[in-house]
Amino acid sequence: TYVIAEPCVDLLDKACIEECPVDCIYEGNRKLYIHPDECVDCGACEPVCPVEAIFYEDDVPEEWAPYTKAEVDFFDEL
Ligand code: SF4
Repeated sequence: TYVIAEPCVDLLDKACIEECPVDCIYEGNRKLYIHPDECVDCGACEPVCPVEAIFYEDDVPEEWAPYTKAEVDFFDEL
């Protein structure tokens, strides 16, 4: 799955939502979230993010590692 990290917080540009072929990017209060079970790893969202907030799960920078878990937790809590 792909993960949306810190640069999205309070920005929510939403260009990624337009690109996602399976509509698995959802809006939270302060950022967007990618549903880990619905994402098909196509990578279409990554280059359109204006702030480079989107990473393949294995490529999330270490300082933003908590965002990988936050993505899962967001959907668990729905
Ligand atoms: Fe959607 Fe593809 Fe991005 Fe996954 S990688 S969130 S399927 S656009």
